[in-house]
Amino acid sequence: MSSVIASTVAEHHPGPQTQERGQRAVFCGLTSIIWLHRRIQDAFFLVVGSRTCAHLIQSAAGVMIFAEPRFATAILGERDLAGMADCHEELDRVVSELISRRSGINRLFLVGSCPSEVIKLDLETAAAKLQAKHENKVRISAFSGSGIETTFTQGEDQCLKSTAAELPALPSGEANLVVLGTVSDIVEDQFRRIFDDLGISNVHFYPGRKADDLPAVGKGTRLVAAQPFVGETVRALIERGADIITAPFPLGAEGSKSWFEAISKAYGVDDARVQQTLELPYQRAKRAIETQAAKLKGKRIHFLPDSQLEIPMARFLSEECGLTINEIGTPFHDQLVMRGELARLPPDVCIVEGQDLDPALNRVREARPDLTVCGMGIANALESEGLRTKWSIELVFSPVQGFDQAGDLASLFAKPLIRESILEVGSWS
Ligand code: SF4
Repeated sequence: MSSVIASTVAEHHPGPQTQERGQRAVFCGLTSIIWLHRRIQDAFFLVVGSRTCAHLIQSAAGVMIFAEPRFATAILGERDLAGMADCHEELDRVVSELISRRSGINRLFLVGSCPSEVIKLDLETAAAKLQAKHENKVRISAFSGSGIETTFTQGEDQCLKSTAAELPALPSGEANLVVLGTVSDIVEDQFRRIFDDLGISNVHFYPGRKADDLPAVGKGTRLVAAQPFVGETVRALIERGADIITAPFPLGAEGSKSWFEAISKAYGVDDARVQQTLELPYQRAKRAIETQAAKLKGKRIHFLPDSQLEIPMARFLSEECGLTINEIGTPFHDQLVMRGELARLPPDVCIVEGQDLDPALNRVREARPDLTVCGMGIANALESEGLRTKWSIELVFSPVQGFDQAGDLASLFAKPLIRESILEVGSWS
């Protein structure tokens, strides 16, 4: 397996690649709680942090209305700084109260953050102690969403990795497929129907809708990523014996088709059956993209580093919608999970890993692309300079994977451009 992990980008993407280190403008991993708590319906996320952390998740979640939110922040105020014992006591009290109040919670995640008093806390040990105390009521684990250690999508990777050690062992002689990375419930349902038609059984989505829906892992496990930001969890499962299937991500008609084809190949599904199963949804997706592609063709797009979705999105937009890619900035370039994507990028496109904010913004200003995909914090500044933007966080929040979402995915990029042309017409009238 180590030879797979050690493969180099240069083998797969012949174009220019650089690394930048400097000022970053990316949300921290706490942001991932917003989509994780929607996905894992009986999990509770307790951020151990400061008022800033509480504000961040409240405002990131502000667009949604909850009857009873399944996340909260235990604020470790200054009075706790005097002694770590106080912090542990406070955490113990908050957790006991939460568990007694919320009977429907089956998994509690303690989520670490950046304040110095939190960094000093060993949350994993705290989770183990709390687990012993609340043995039969709830499973408790911990992960870091700290802005020092994580960007916003890395929060999900840390969350999944924190439960990876609990995954049961797959009995020898058995086989299963693990689809890794959050997808929405409708995407899971659509994928399950296609797997059924392909005759592929024992399929697990991780994370699942229920916290205790943990897939078994072992030598008979095949693993395929549905999201590009789960690299550490991929490696943890490979360590447990799983075999990774190299495929592009299921974005767009071509991406989805290639994703299912790669899985079918690993399972030895008869080619005629594969084509028969995929043909209709593939053609439907092509038609849905075509109506949007007319608005996108020939436009220039620039990706600033944010979500780790940049490389597969750039592939989809150049391959299926006729856009020209100006530059692909990505916070991390995970060579293992991107293997299925790189060969399909235009050969001359430049990939920039990491970020140095000012030079990166200057390149956008110089190139003046038709659309810049970036973080929410940067978008306003660029818009005020007359540049159109798309928040990359929307691409994580929206159901975009699979054939049936391909048209919606293209329209997410077309909308800001249509808005601009309406504004232009308006300004002449
Ligand atoms: Fe800010 Fe750090 Fe809290 Fe994130 S974890 S909101 S970066 S203090």
